[in-house]
Amino acid sequence: MKCDVLTLFPDIVNAYLKESILKRAQERGLLQVRVHNIRDFAEGRHKQVDDYPFGGGPGMVLKPEPIFKAVEGIKKDGIPRRVVLLTPQGEPFSQAKAEELSKEERGLVFICGRYEGIDERVRECLVDDEISIGDYVLTGGELAALVIIDASARLIPEALGDEKSKEEESFSWGLLDYPHYTRPREYEGMNVPEVLISGNHREIWLWRRKEALRKTMNVRADLLKRIELSDIDKKLISEIEGEQ
Ligand code: SAM
Repeated sequence: MKCDVLTLFPDIVNAYLKESILKRAQERGLLQVRVHNIRDFAEGRHKQVDDYPFGGGPGMVLKPEPIFKAVEGIKKDGIPRRVVLLTPQGEPFSQAKAEELSKEERGLVFICGRYEGIDERVRECLVDDEISIGDYVLTGGELAALVIIDASARLIPEALGDEKSKEEESFSWGLLDYPHYTRPREYEGMNVPEVLISGNHREIWLWRRKEALRKTMNVRADLLKRIELSDIDKKLISEIEGEQ
C-alpha cells in the first residue's frame, strides 16, 4: 500500500507512523507513506496557504494552488493515483472501505483540510473519493487520514503479527467482537469464564459466537439486520433473549 499525505502539520502524521505495527509494516516494505507539507508548495515570501472566503463568513480556506501543485508533483512519476479528500461531508468510513483501500493498486493521496476546509475547485478537479470518519467535525484531516491508513494497512497480508487476529474481530463476522481475557485467571474476585479454560474448542467457539451476538444485539442491533444468521445463531439468540 503506497500513500502520500498532504498536510499543514506533517509532525502529527509522522509521530503516529513511527510506532508499532505501522512502523514495522513500513520497515518490511508492506506500507509506504510519504508525508508532504502543503506549505512547501505555496508561493511568495510568506508561503501563504490560506485566505479569506469569498462572500465573507468566519474562518480561512485552504488555497487551491499549493494543493494542485503538490498533487501534480506527486503524479509526475506516472504511477496511477487515487486521491482521497478527508471531509465530514464524505462517505462514512467502514471496515469494508478499509478492505477496499488495503487492496488498492494505485497509490493513495490523502488531502488533509484545516480551518474552514479547502477551496471547492480542489474537490471538483482532483478528488476521486471523499471520506468522513464520523459525524463530528475535527480541527483537521490528519487524524482522519491516520485512521484510514491504520485500519487499511493492518489488513495487508502479513502486516499483523498473527494473521488470525483479524479473522474474528469486530465487523469481520459482521458482528462486534467477543470478550477477551488473559492471565491471571482470577483478579480481585473476578474470574475468567470456565469454558475458556476447558480446552473444548467447540464449546469455546459457541461461547464466543454467543457473546459476540449478545454484544451486537445490545450495542449495535442495526448490524444484525445486515448479516445472514445461521440456525446456530438463531438458537443462540433465543437463548440470549431467554436469559435477558
Ligand atoms: N467547514 C467544514 C464543514 O463543515 O464541512 C469543516 C472543516 S474542519 C474544521 C477542517 C478539516 O478537518 C476538514 O477540511 C477535513 O479535512 C477535516 N475533518 C473534519 N472533520 C472530519 C471528519 N469527520 N472526517 C474526515 N475529515 C474531517
